[in-house]
Amino acid sequence: MTNPAAGAEAREAVHYHLCPEQPESHLFRVTCTLREPDPDGQVLRLPAWIPGSYMIRDFARNVVRIAARDARGEVGIDKLDKQTWRCAPAHGPLAVECDIYAWDLSVRAAHLDRTHGFFNGTSVFLRPDGMDGQPCMVEITAPVDAACADWGVATALPAVEVDGNGFGRYRASDYDELIDHPVEMGRFQRIEYEACGVPHALVLTGRCRADGERLARDLAILCAWQVRFWGEPAPFDRYLFLAMVTGDGYGGLEHRASSSLMCARRNLPAPGATGVGEDYRTFLGLCSHEYFHAWNVKRIRPAEFTPYRLDAESHTRLLWVFEGFTSYYDDLALLRAGLVGCDDYLEVLGQTVTRVLRGAGRHLQSVAESSFDAWTRFYKQDENAPNAIVSYYTKGALVALCLDLHIRGETDDERSLDDVMRLLWKEYGLPGRGVGEDEMAAIIGRATGVGCAELLGEWVDGTRDLPLTELLEAHGVRLHLRPADGLADRGGKPAAQGVRPQRRMAPGFQLRADGPLARVSVVRSGTPAEAAGIAAGDLLVALDGIRVPVDGLDGFLDRYEPGERIACHVLRHDELLELELELAAEAPSTAWLEIHDEARALRWLAPGGDE
Ligand code: ZN
Repeated sequence: MTNPAAGAEAREAVHYHLCPEQPESHLFRVTCTLREPDPDGQVLRLPAWIPGSYMIRDFARNVVRIAARDARGEVGIDKLDKQTWRCAPAHGPLAVECDIYAWDLSVRAAHLDRTHGFFNGTSVFLRPDGMDGQPCMVEITAPVDAACADWGVATALPAVEVDGNGFGRYRASDYDELIDHPVEMGRFQRIEYEACGVPHALVLTGRCRADGERLARDLAILCAWQVRFWGEPAPFDRYLFLAMVTGDGYGGLEHRASSSLMCARRNLPAPGATGVGEDYRTFLGLCSHEYFHAWNVKRIRPAEFTPYRLDAESHTRLLWVFEGFTSYYDDLALLRAGLVGCDDYLEVLGQTVTRVLRGAGRHLQSVAESSFDAWTRFYKQDENAPNAIVSYYTKGALVALCLDLHIRGETDDERSLDDVMRLLWKEYGLPGRGVGEDEMAAIIGRATGVGCAELLGEWVDGTRDLPLTELLEAHGVRLHLRPADGLADRGGKPAAQGVRPQRRMAPGFQLRADGPLARVSVVRSGTPAEAAGIAAGDLLVALDGIRVPVDGLDGFLDRYEPGERIACHVLRHDELLELELELAAEAPSTAWLEIHDEARALRWLAPGGDE
């Protein structure tokens, strides 16, 4: 009798076998078998980065053992550079076997122990040169460890032949697809729902108690709104959210038919709870963001990512479109799908405005520059980041807001940023054409008839503040600025009762707890702390002769007057320094929004056509 599995293997030129071989050692064993290796010696490599996370991560550094064999036995391997190997000419099929260390609990790499396994293809699948476009078979086998006997598999990889738990054979049409379907294995909770006729699932890994029915209902509403926003049918025939639930996790990475999420236990709705509080809103916003990416960046891509070049940095000045616009629509989708109200939405938007206004780096770096330098600056932030860089996420979201309001204003609400997104989908996403670095102004013009080349020059390539106040005012929403209520104040709301904001002293440093003392983590440029000579890393021993812990600073300084000079003792390395801090009242950079013309505001916040 013919073994159908063996037949399937023979049809694919590239075959991978992956097994969570030693969960306790955090090792995946992965074999890549090539039916017809390069006769001159097959070259194989691992990517240096994973699409969606713009930093060189050098996944090859986790390859702890590599060996090759052919029909005659062992085949020699030369290492050519940090991520590339060349095998000696092989006789017949070549099998390259690796043990890969997996102990990075993030959405970007791989993680394995006796509780679960997770991997992205970029961490585990060697890419054979010259075979990028070849279909490949992936066989995932269950760990033999008895502690893992009840594990299942969750992935959006198309299954070919799998058992009831999902172990077995999967197929990808090429290497690009192979590395675009992360895989989770373990004991997880699977919540299924449908949106626009497409089967969806949310898989929760990690200990948690959450209202599964509520999650299914709300995510179905959110996903259906997005599919209709872009236009049916959805560009995938199944979609999977893979969520790792921990005490304080947060993050996500987008893929073509799935996304990997990290979330905090408190972000999931408790059984029986109603309403959308800040925690659950955070989770829905994260899902909304990654789902929107299934169109905006996975299919509508910068030309620079078409195709991805994974050996080294791949620069684009357009992340303000792909991350910024996605950040604008992630929260807006919750409002327009009816999952949160206007007040909730304006609170979140006010927090975004606050985050941008608190960073002096916005006057030094444009969002186009921030996009280009993501690799070495946004992704490698140090203590000087707030002074030196701007976020293409937050400022990019505000550029999207300004464009949306500007287009609506110029066209009497006949056109909006929605039209720009749909044109991007139709002319770039669907046909698979990359967006050129300088094409956005022309695209917006084609979609809306509104010329904005000059505005984009200012907003995207410039470092002056965006005209948020004027644009919001013209659309029925007033932007208020006030001093922060305290270190924990993220903005979005009016000042708390009982606070005397005009009296709030702001030294201009950020602190973190270090034992009974506070350590300075950031010194903002142009502030009293900088003038006093306080530096990031200093241990704050005393202010005005008194020890002040992190959570005691707010009330402590508000008893002083602007212009007062107080002694500030810090330890820098092991030396005690006595500095003098001249206090000043905080400049108002905390934003909150209020509707002043409801009819006008609703034309933007609840446009006709949305359910
Ligand atoms: Zn994103």
